[in-house]
Amino acid sequence: MKVTSVKSRVLAIPNNEPYYYSQGVGQGVNCVLVEVETDEGITGIGEACGDRSAEAIVEVLRAAARAIEGHSPFDIEAFLHRFYRLGKWDDMRRFANQAVAGVEMALWDIVGKACDQPVHRLFGGMVKERSSCFAFLQGNDPDKLAGDAKKWHGQGFDVIYVKVGLGYDRDLAYFAAVREAVGKEAKIRVDANQAWQVGEAIHTLQALVPFQIDFAEQPVHWTNLEGMARIREAVPIPIAIDQGCFTEFEALRAIQTRAADVITVGLHEAGGILGLKKVATVAAAGGLPICRHGVMGETGITTLASLQVLATIQNQVDGHQVMHQLLENDTIRPGLLTFDQGHLDVPDRPGLGIELDLDMVDRYAKRYEEHGPYHNIV
Ligand SMILES: [Mg+2]
Repeated sequence: MKVTSVKSRVLAIPNNEPYYYSQGVGQGVNCVLVEVETDEGITGIGEACGDRSAEAIVEVLRAAARAIEGHSPFDIEAFLHRFYRLGKWDDMRRFANQAVAGVEMALWDIVGKACDQPVHRLFGGMVKERSSCFAFLQGNDPDKLAGDAKKWHGQGFDVIYVKVGLGYDRDLAYFAAVREAVGKEAKIRVDANQAWQVGEAIHTLQALVPFQIDFAEQPVHWTNLEGMARIREAVPIPIAIDQGCFTEFEALRAIQTRAADVITVGLHEAGGILGLKKVATVAAAGGLPICRHGVMGETGITTLASLQVLATIQNQVDGHQVMHQLLENDTIRPGLLTFDQGHLDVPDRPGLGIELDLDMVDRYAKRYEEHGPYHNIV
């Protein structure tokens, strides 16, 4: 079997409600649907992240197409190696991975369909039958956050996730309201998205200690591993690295510098399913668990692909990030992803288990063509 073409379509999908975080406000997402076709009639589906620039991602996908067309879809490591050299992307993985991940997941979809097996069976087999997800609270008002926390917790979500880094008083008010709403049993995480300086992070996190935090994500700038280590020494709260760790190389650096207790990472950072598994393996060697990271710029396609690889990873926390539920509509057929007590089942269908909702794909491709991409509001 040979790959004959790589096709991409940019979709602009509105969020259900504004997405507030320390770096701005998001009204919608830009994702890039990737379809990889073969000479045997099997098509693989994947998704690239168009959050920075969907147009630039489409260009990188053209480079990825040159690295896979005419080659076997089974030779995924060889494809990645060729891709990183062809476009000289090796030292630009932070950007290039967000494109190549879409092709890489589509190749696994082809391999799974060709073997008539779900991808997790080709990837070491299942150690986790279900994937636990966190409730991602949206809003910029303590009452709204508390109300939503109560609702999600009532539906069985044991892990709640709150954006912080919005100012000391607001951060404390948000967290206190959510803790009050869900009681002592639920785990609550915060994510500052690099908003703090080291001293500010220590000051705020110390104030949150009495409210019990499960972990705090990326308190300081992604380059500041030494600062992450200082925060870990200063506060009795586990610290997660997110923007500071995209690849297995950065996972090793985070371990060596004692910058984190948890690594949050997703397919779009790591460059696909193999990349995520590699980060998880390095993390395991360093004694750390991973938490699946989701990005603005993904839909249920990425959720389904992530479930396949998470099923095969032993060193993971409960409560992974999922993003498809934040969108007005998904790109996949309704009913493929249904939360049950805060969990998603790992699909047993061949490949990644994706079935597109073509009406929605057309609707949001048209939206992008007519109105262009969404931009972060700062
Ligand atoms: Mg984060």
